[in-house]
Amino acid sequence: MAVADSRSARPQKTDHLSEAVERRVADALAALSLEQKVRLLTGADFWSTHPEPAIGLRRMVVSDGPVGVRGERWDERDPSVCLPSSTALAATWDEALLERVGAALASEARRKGVDVVLGPTVNLHRSPLGGRHFECFSEDPLLTGRIGAAYVRGLQTHGVGATPKHYVANDSETERFTVDVRVDERTLRELYLAPFERMITGAGAWLVMASYNAVNGVTLTESALLASPLEDEWGFDGVVVSDWTATRSTEASARAALDLAMPGPGGPWGAALVAAVRRGAVPEKAIDDKVRRLLRLAARVGALEGVAPAAPAPAPLAGAEAGTLAREAAAAGMVLVRNKGDALPLDAARLRRIAVIGPNAAAGRIQGGGSASVHPHYAVSPLDGLRAALGGRADVLHAVGTRIQEGLVPVAGDQVVDPVTGRHGVHVRLLDAKGGVLHEEHRDVGRLTFIGDQRANEAATIEVTARFRAAEAGLHRIGVAGVGVYRLTAGGQVLFDEAVLPDKDDIAAALLAPPQRAVELSLAAGQEVDLALTHTVPMGTLAVAFSLGAEVPALSDEEEQARAVELARSADVAIVVVGTTEAIESEGFDRSTLGLPGRQDELISAVAAASPRTIVLVNSGGPVTMPWRDEVAAVLLTWFPGQEFGAAVADVLLGAVEPGGRLPTTWPARAEDVPVLSTKPENGKLVYAEGLHIGYRAWARAGVTPAYPFGHGLGYTRWEILDVEAPSVSAGAALEARVRMRNVGTRRGRHVVQLYLSRPDSEVERPALWLAGFASVEAEPDQTVDVAVTVEPRAFAHWAAGRWQVEPGVYTLHAGHSAAVLTRQTAVHLRD
Ligand code: BGC
Repeated sequence: MAVADSRSARPQKTDHLSEAVERRVADALAALSLEQKVRLLTGADFWSTHPEPAIGLRRMVVSDGPVGVRGERWDERDPSVCLPSSTALAATWDEALLERVGAALASEARRKGVDVVLGPTVNLHRSPLGGRHFECFSEDPLLTGRIGAAYVRGLQTHGVGATPKHYVANDSETERFTVDVRVDERTLRELYLAPFERMITGAGAWLVMASYNAVNGVTLTESALLASPLEDEWGFDGVVVSDWTATRSTEASARAALDLAMPGPGGPWGAALVAAVRRGAVPEKAIDDKVRRLLRLAARVGALEGVAPAAPAPAPLAGAEAGTLAREAAAAGMVLVRNKGDALPLDAARLRRIAVIGPNAAAGRIQGGGSASVHPHYAVSPLDGLRAALGGRADVLHAVGTRIQEGLVPVAGDQVVDPVTGRHGVHVRLLDAKGGVLHEEHRDVGRLTFIGDQRANEAATIEVTARFRAAEAGLHRIGVAGVGVYRLTAGGQVLFDEAVLPDKDDIAAALLAPPQRAVELSLAAGQEVDLALTHTVPMGTLAVAFSLGAEVPALSDEEEQARAVELARSADVAIVVVGTTEAIESEGFDRSTLGLPGRQDELISAVAAASPRTIVLVNSGGPVTMPWRDEVAAVLLTWFPGQEFGAAVADVLLGAVEPGGRLPTTWPARAEDVPVLSTKPENGKLVYAEGLHIGYRAWARAGVTPAYPFGHGLGYTRWEILDVEAPSVSAGAALEARVRMRNVGTRRGRHVVQLYLSRPDSEVERPALWLAGFASVEAEPDQTVDVAVTVEPRAFAHWAAGRWQVEPGVYTLHAGHSAAVLTRQTAVHLRD
């Protein structure tokens, strides 16, 4: 087999770092003592770095990410624009749109005083059970890389740093702090490192986040992978920041190419690292390299006096502008997977009565759970969106059909009154050990989060009081969701006073999806009760998060379902909005099943039996099984679409815009068909035994048909691929293919042209096929368009013997509508 090296040249610097800036950085570094330098390398608190006035360095603020910019405060008083989650963004296959998303996030960041966004998340969809699946883009490294790079460019061309994360092989959540991922070098290079490589060489990311897990026995914050390939091969000159609390050693992590340990101010560096340098256990030049990188970041974001930032701060987004982008992006990511008899778009002029059914209809889920979540300014539900769009021209009626929210919901709105201010909401007091008031405030909702908040750390107890009003008569469950010691009283009477223990071993998960303790109260309609919840704050805690919650009386599922079916029968069309909950798709744990929670499958079948025009909207971040999919007229996957959910739904259902999305990940028919499913480590190790064969590559290899393949998605017109042509190409050169497309439908539309490669007689092991390039096309009905699609040299390369190599000869280039519907092909001769 002849081989050729196709390793690309080291990247050029992509931004403004001139020699003068590098000199300024070097001078600043030279002016610092060892203690001053080391101090800079651990966070000052949860979300910021230390300032150093002696060298004109201000503090830098970092923030999650990635659907919006949360800022330093994580509650309803500092809301954020909430854009679609990553699976939705990847489903757009639209890099120009992603750049606009990045730019909008840069504006949000600057509005909130944030220098660095902790995103994008570019881990891969190895298994659909992955808890942060919704937060990652795709099962394919090329799509992930191109979409992620556009997001990074959007942020950084506006002067805000991006942090591709979590480097690397952090593709599931089970035992996430300790899991040792066993993966061979070729798989690591071709799949899991590939998106990161593009973030650096293609988009020049200013930071990378080192993950919690280990790869091949070494935890990432101590791993040689931080130096190579990240720095020496890809030319990364930025900051490697640890995931939060992932730095677990002093010397090993400092000797590795980790630059910034977060959060602070404690942690394993500080004085221990100064001592390690003094004893010679860590070379001072390693410290200098870290500080230099941090100062370079400061120069880029405008935190170093005398250096102009990489770009001037963008103006804050006007509310309407943010809403328009959120709406456009949500619709652009929605994937219409089934549309029998052109059930969609609906003809608004012919609709008199619309049934909008399902647990997510009146309260859609706009984002996934965990550190990725933000407090939105507002959220438009599908019900609101349709009502607004139809503006009284049709009756839009609602039935919940079944309930999926398990247990307590934080109290809010007119359910509660703050006994001190008399406003809707709750009253919060932070008390010292003697009961003295350290701080008090009104809050709109009963969900409280204090992360790295000095006042909460100093408090002995946190007290929440509220006058609760029962809207309806019946049994109410009232209590707390949170870990720790809680005391709840009603009308002065103690309901419980005890420790609520975590039901998950991950402390972050325990904060994000906490256990609950509640008691039942029988209340008359309109009855009021004075509640007081007191939490004993553990000494030295970094984060406190709990809610005062209630579960109000509801009809039984049978009654709810019967109502929904009746409504569907009486309506012209039944729109059923189903989905997952925060207890299912969130950071900190993996999913245990792909089924929709509760009795939603049953609800859909019952509605479909009553109405031939049943349209199902699936509101989940990742794949769910849909056993009813052939019973209904249409299925639209909305993902977690951000604050404009309902407005985008109305746009798509009523045909104002096309559903723009194509699947960034395979949707299985049954969990048992999924080629790579388990995310459970054995004896602490998670073996990526499938190697290169994940996602659609694995489905093709196994010869199993999923419910909907990678790349699939329908618009409102139809397309035919007439031809694909490609010249022969030399190793190391890009291939320019030409695909001739025809719009054979009846309206203007956009389609994503996908090119895949295969090499049936390969001498080296290969996936059955792999995505090699894509481009979008727009055309009028009956119009034929030639689309140029670039296939980069890397598409022909494989990793062997420590370098990129190519196998010359004939490859098959397939043009298709998805990974499973490849309608034209041509042979490509790759010359040595
Ligand atoms: C997550 C990161 C996040 C960090 C800060 C961690 O638990 O894994 O993605 O950026 O917390 O919130």
